[in-house]
Amino acid sequence: MSHPSPGPEITYAECRQCGTLIAGLDGRYSCGVCGWVNHHSEGHRALPRAEDDIDHAAARTDDNRLS
Ligand SMILES: [Zn+2]
Repeated sequence: MSHPSPGPEITYAECRQCGTLIAGLDGRYSCGVCGWVNHHSEGHRALPRAEDDIDHAAARTDDNRLS
C-alpha cells in the first residue's frame, strides 16, 4: 500500500478512572469496565478526511512529481 487508510486510527491508553488499558479511535476512549469516556475534543483529529490531511497531500504531490 502506498499510503495509509484515511480512516480512524486505533489508539490505546489507560483509563483515567480505573487504569484499565483500553482501545479507542484517534485518541477517543470509552472504558468498558467503569464507563469512563474522554471528551471527543481530546481526539487527535476532528475529522479524518484525506483532503484535510497535510501529510497525505504532501505525499500525493511527491508521487505525482517523480522526475
Ligand atoms: Zn475505567
